Amino acid sequence: MKNIVVLGAGTGGTLITNMLTHHLDLTEWKITVIDRAKLHVYQPGLLFIPFRLYGYNSTQALAKEITEPLPRNVDFVAANIELIDHANKQVKTDQGDYPYDYLVCSLGCSLAPEEVEGLQEALGEKVFTFYTSEHAEKLADALDAMREGRLVVDICNMPIKCPVAPVEFVFLADYYFHQKGIRDKVEITLVTPYSGAFTKPNANRVLTKIAGEKGIHIVPNFTASAVDTDAKRLSSFEGTSVDYDLLVTIPANVGPAVIDESGLGDGNGFGLTDPRTLKSKKADCIYFMGDNTNVATSKAGSVAHFEAETVLENLLLEIEGKHPVSSYDGHSNCFIESGYHKALLIDFNYDMEPLEGSFPTPYMGPFSLLKESYLNHMGKITFEWVYWHMLLKGHLGHVPMLPSHMNFLGKDIKTTPQIRHAKELHVRDVMTREVFTIQRGASLTEAVNFMTKQHVSGLPVLDENGKLSGVVTEGDFLSAMDISGGAVAGALETVVRKHRARKHMGTIVDDIMTSDPITIKEDDTLQTAVEMMDRSRVKRLIVTDGNNRVNGIVSRADVIKLFAMK
Ligand SMILES: Cc1cc2nc3c(=O)[nH]c(=O)nc-3n(C[C@H](O)[C@H](O)[C@H](O)COP(=O)(O)OP(=O)(O)OC[C@H]3O[C@@H](n4cnc5c(N)ncnc54)[C@H](O)[C@@H]3O)c2cc1C
Repeated sequence: MKNIVVLGAGTGGTLITNMLTHHLDLTEWKITVIDRAKLHVYQPGLLFIPFRLYGYNSTQALAKEITEPLPRNVDFVAANIELIDHANKQVKTDQGDYPYDYLVCSLGCSLAPEEVEGLQEALGEKVFTFYTSEHAEKLADALDAMREGRLVVDICNMPIKCPVAPVEFVFLADYYFHQKGIRDKVEITLVTPYSGAFTKPNANRVLTKIAGEKGIHIVPNFTASAVDTDAKRLSSFEGTSVDYDLLVTIPANVGPAVIDESGLGDGNGFGLTDPRTLKSKKADCIYFMGDNTNVATSKAGSVAHFEAETVLENLLLEIEGKHPVSSYDGHSNCFIESGYHKALLIDFNYDMEPLEGSFPTPYMGPFSLLKESYLNHMGKITFEWVYWHMLLKGHLGHVPMLPSHMNFLGKDIKTTPQIRHAKELHVRDVMTREVFTIQRGASLTEAVNFMTKQHVSGLPVLDENGKLSGVVTEGDFLSAMDISGGAVAGALETVVRKHRARKHMGTIVDDIMTSDPITIKEDDTLQTAVEMMDRSRVKRLIVTDGNNRVNGIVSRADVIKLFAMK
């Protein structure tokens, strides 16, 4: 019997365990899940508890027994994890040692109030946080008692999980005090180390505007250094201070100490993780997912969900003796509750910041990106059911139109800061005009040699009149070659043949070329180009004129160069 050990039975650990049981032969594989907690808490619900909004009245209703969402055919161990002994491939706990062949580490992260002088001691007396069940309920009582004064919500420092939650909190506070009829007596301030309401420029622009409309003050570039509970004053490393009557604090989050102590971390408890394969950079046979990675995307349940697809795919590949693939793109999305039964939605990845538009389908949505809507709010509220019954069970990946990779469908690429002030972009503005081509009838050897010499991965194929007849790419060669056997070849098979029919090798390019290449015109918009690339799952389109002559090529790389986050 071989062993897969999953560390943590929170969002990521539970999800990957359920997915593994769907794919592994459990007569050959034993799956062991280790966690010290008694309860699994639906953490996004903590946001509503302080306001007792939308039926969220007690944290008990947000929690289930830790084992309840786990599959019955795995072993659960209630234990404190003390060391990941990767040299001997075993996990040491206070209940014994557990050997593993593969390990998935999803131990989350936790609050570090001790990083701000006086904060640890201040918690519970005019200073609260809604990031834990215990404090979220106490905060509800404190808000109940508040009749006037200064409510200050402070993001102490980064990183924090769900970076939009503090923004949602101030929006909901505005709604809550309006409902109580005392909004004019309560001053609401968001204090943040960012330059505005949020990190990413496009979302920052929209959220800062909404905050302004709601009369919420934002104090930017403020990294909390100390709390003085007598003076009710919060100070920053930048030398500024803010006075409060009620302080809602979100201390910086740190990863589990056991990750650093096992030699796998970055010094703050976050596992040193390959951002694309999600493998540990320090030890073999270990994957990180969820909040305990050090990858540069949000710490969010949605991220754990998208990462799980890559972790599962790579574990299955490694088990078959193949190489892991670099398939995770940093995809993250999140509803942002804004009060008055409305919410926004953001969807982004490592390369692209949140854009406006509709999600997951163009025009029909039903959700709106970076725009308030009632349907987004319904999405946020119904998500709790989706979380327990679909996400944790590993079924959400089967829902059409919810791919684990971010795509451009429905997204309005003109809404990036770089583009907002520019004219509408067309293919002609970014296309590459110098394109290497090859004639029909050319031999495959000639084509390969030419592609290698010019460092290109594909060539448009022209007929005797110089018109586009097809395209021959590396993918066509690989689909035509018998590449079975061997680890590298196996990995190539997985990547190349995933969406591609098997071909037969011939002698000339006509034998293997794709004869109906997807084309676009220079005058088409870039939005059309990226949507066509997404829909057809191709990296580039051939730009043709009205006579089917090749004018150039437009590729994903051209688009990313334009819109990538700076
Ligand atoms: C207020 C709030 C609002 C949020 N809103 C959203 C939202 O709207 N959308 C969204 O996508 N995400 C949201 N999140 C974030 C989301 O809940 C987390 O990102 C997600 O739960 C991370 O999953 P995880 O598996 O990495 O960690 P967790 O779910 O936290 O699980 C970690 C597990 O590891 C266990 N563990 C840790 N150390 C040890 C040890 N040494 N020994 C044994 N067990 C250990 C813990 O007991 C825990 O069960 C929110 C979070 C908060 C706090």
